[in-house]
Amino acid sequence: MSYLDLHLHTTHSDGSCTPSEVMHLAHAAGVTTVAITDHDITTGIPEATLTGQQLGIDVIPGIEISSSFRDSEFHLLGYFLDCRDAKLNDRLTILRKSRHSRNPQIIEHLRALGIEITYDEVRALAGTDSVGRPHIARMLMEKRVVASAREAFDRFLADGRPAYVPRHLPSPAEAILWIKEARGLAVLAHPTWIKATGDALIGLVRQLKVDGLDGIEAHYSSHTRRQTRDYLALARQFGLLATGGSDFHGLTKPDIKVGIGRGTLHIPASLAPKLKDAAARL
Ligand code: AMP
Ligand code: ZN
Ligand code: FE
Ligand code: FE
Repeated sequence: MSYLDLHLHTTHSDGSCTPSEVMHLAHAAGVTTVAITDHDITTGIPEATLTGQQLGIDVIPGIEISSSFRDSEFHLLGYFLDCRDAKLNDRLTILRKSRHSRNPQIIEHLRALGIEITYDEVRALAGTDSVGRPHIARMLMEKRVVASAREAFDRFLADGRPAYVPRHLPSPAEAILWIKEARGLAVLAHPTWIKATGDALIGLVRQLKVDGLDGIEAHYSSHTRRQTRDYLALARQFGLLATGGSDFHGLTKPDIKVGIGRGTLHIPASLAPKLKDAAARL
């Protein structure tokens, strides 16, 4: 069997493995098509593509953009988008700048709690322009303030915790438009993050479809069999593509492996041609 993994993070955002390391992990897991979907940045894609050519793995250029609506974050994955598109790059630069104005505020909260930490050292650890809370979590692990990224989020960084700072995010419609204007397919990531169920969820998906949504990430590391089945049905109901990915991050989510998630994720390779056909029609 061959598998897909269309949701992977690298050291170019908040993952802890280089693009080349991620590709070797994909190869070992029997994955034949991947998408690199770093947050707000596409610079990891050339290295992944090169290693993919050596290993016989197809690399789909991707991105993950966070957006918010009401009380939920909606993460949009973009696939097959033109990474050289000037408008897209201007928009991604603005998103990364908003990270650099938010992160020092998080650091100030941590310092007020008596933790010795600076944004300079977090930026050095991150080694990329797309710096996120998981990098701060890893710095707190290195300083032995916490034992895991999960503990860092639970004690300090998650919404409602003492070092949390909100960030201005685009609306889902804006994030979808940005992906479409860069000639990409827009897919709703980890739909379980949406705090709506039943008719409210259906109403939201109907609106996202009107906004231009192309697909739903029906296969995901944390989904139960039932959730996968329900999201596949939702995709069918609205004529959306079904996709899937592990959301591999390396050290910040150590229980999630490339290709297999927590061991139960198997994304059928038959999804790839449907995605490619849809991209060819863009
Ligand atoms: P940021 O983009 O800086 O707001 O960071 C958000 C990222 O942090 C998400 O995309 C997740 O990868 C990660 N994250 C959010 N909540 C948690 C958590 N409770 N444990 C570990 N990682 C998390
Ligand atoms: Zn992430
Ligand atoms: Fe996400
Ligand atoms: Fe992700």
